[in-house]
Amino acid sequence: MAMEELNMQIYGCKKCRLWKDAKHVVPGEGPLNAKVMFVGQNPGADEDESGRPFVGRAGKYLTKTLAEFGIKREDIYITNIVKHISPKNRAPYPDELASCLPYVTAQIKFIQPKIIVLLGASAKETPRVDGIEYIQVIHPSAAMRFTQMRLKFRVQIAELAKRIQQN
Ligand code: SF4
Repeated sequence: MAMEELNMQIYGCKKCRLWKDAKHVVPGEGPLNAKVMFVGQNPGADEDESGRPFVGRAGKYLTKTLAEFGIKREDIYITNIVKHISPKNRAPYPDELASCLPYVTAQIKFIQPKIIVLLGASAKETPRVDGIEYIQVIHPSAAMRFTQMRLKFRVQIAELAKRIQQN
């Protein structure tokens, strides 16, 4: 299946209840030959408004921090395990996760990244594929708020930059 076809499926998806209260679905974006894929939990209000992933305050902070360590946002594919916002930003329910997971699985198969970066523990359900290195980092929204987490986040992104150079 081509990525365009997959995106069309996501744009028309009503497999779980989350589409009903959302303004836009957020499939993900980035180059289809990206070496690195970032995966978060699900879109927030700014992402729901724009239909683009990680464009709110946390997304801007992430983009800025990546740039400080020489990682260009435009070189990475970035998405979420669940493609619609949840009411009141609650965590997605297990049945919603189960309905949406085939999309991120298909995106991983299509892009075949060398590294997948899991943004926050909430992305832990991201499917594991042999041959791909998985790196867990603190969610940028937590890194923005707490000094200790920010310092750790920066160390994690510095390590990530090294791993990218080695690949
Ligand atoms: S959250 Fe995923 S499974 Fe649920 S309606 Fe949206 S795209 Fe479909």
